[in-house]
Amino acid sequence: MKQPAPTFSISTLGCKVNQYESQALRERMTRAGFREVRADPGLLIVNTCAVTARAEAKARKLIRRRLRESPGSRIAIIGCGLRYSRRLGRGLDRLVPPGRRGDLPFSPTGEALRGTTFFAGHCRPLVKVQDGCDAFCAYCVIPLVRGTPASRPAAEVLGEISGLLDSGYREIVLTGINLGLYRDGDTGLAGLVERICRLPGEFRLRLSSVEPGETTAALAELLARERRLCPHLHLPLQSGSDRVLKLMNRGYTLDGYRELAGRLREACPDLALTTDCLVGFPGEAEADFAATRRAVEELGFSRVHIFPYSPRPRTAAARTPPPPPEVIRERAARLEKTAARAARNYRERFRSAEVEVLVEEVSGAGEGRGLDRHYLRTRLRGPGLEEGRLYRGRVTGIGDGELRAELTGG
Ligand code: SF4
Repeated sequence: MKQPAPTFSISTLGCKVNQYESQALRERMTRAGFREVRADPGLLIVNTCAVTARAEAKARKLIRRRLRESPGSRIAIIGCGLRYSRRLGRGLDRLVPPGRRGDLPFSPTGEALRGTTFFAGHCRPLVKVQDGCDAFCAYCVIPLVRGTPASRPAAEVLGEISGLLDSGYREIVLTGINLGLYRDGDTGLAGLVERICRLPGEFRLRLSSVEPGETTAALAELLARERRLCPHLHLPLQSGSDRVLKLMNRGYTLDGYRELAGRLREACPDLALTTDCLVGFPGEAEADFAATRRAVEELGFSRVHIFPYSPRPRTAAARTPPPPPEVIRERAARLEKTAARAARNYRERFRSAEVEVLVEEVSGAGEGRGLDRHYLRTRLRGPGLEEGRLYRGRVTGIGDGELRAELTGG
């Protein structure tokens, strides 16, 4: 009699790279004869993150919850959280031992997980092209858990993206740990983007995040002329204080960042700049924080991700105490308000504008929700909307955190 297929589930925490790797693993498990199920899988896989103390706490909580929900399952913990601290799985009796492959088609401590043909639950597949970082920003554990920079061959990336486009996806998001370090022979990130944009089909391409030091003139030029490349760049600022940027080992000053943003906007006037700010870094005085707020106001970001600092053992910054937690919380809350104002101002430019929306969700009332080319959440109204398709619309209103638009064309 035929044995039933072994079953698994995957839960993912953390960044886009982790999400991509979970998808690659999902496909590898399926190819190896496993079946993905929601309840009581034979194997629970939890893909963890280590970026903040909060992310680590979340991973522990999720692992406990998954084990409670599925008392008969084994568990494999993978990802940055495990690579950062093996203690994450210590004492769990149903744990697949890290570093041991056993009967599984992967090793929990990691090996390159790549190659996707679809993206479960996403209309905009992520494609990881680069891994690792050796910049050693003072607060960041990534170089400790992801190792030195490594890139995928351009031909392999193009093949994967062609397959996704053939399956009907209309937006591809290029992602990496430090995407700007992408290199395959003479091909850097701009060269790769250019080659992707030449692929046939109706689609658009988005870059997930590029460090200021890696944002080249060639990339700015592509943003100016390449219609398929979304006019959106996530350019982490982290702080508006040169003193703190130096302590963070970020390798640029506010003036340098300002000048880069200016050059990018000159090349691409409607560019949406999104960013990350780290609040409460050790040594951040009120004056430094005020400089960050001013920078957020001045630079016109359309979205700011605010990270309250938490010390990560084995990083350079962990040797110095940060400001008290209540000061960090209060600064983060103040910066949220500044960021919300900046985002509202940016959205205001889109009154009556024509937008292109990738619909990711259609409600019962026939209203579509998705993102426009500038990464603005948009509610689109019109007949016959379908998930995963690109539509043109005219903005009829600016809502709280989103645009409202009427369909003008498909
Ligand atoms: S550039 Fe800095 S913040 Fe980004 S992954 Fe590398 S070390 Fe971490």
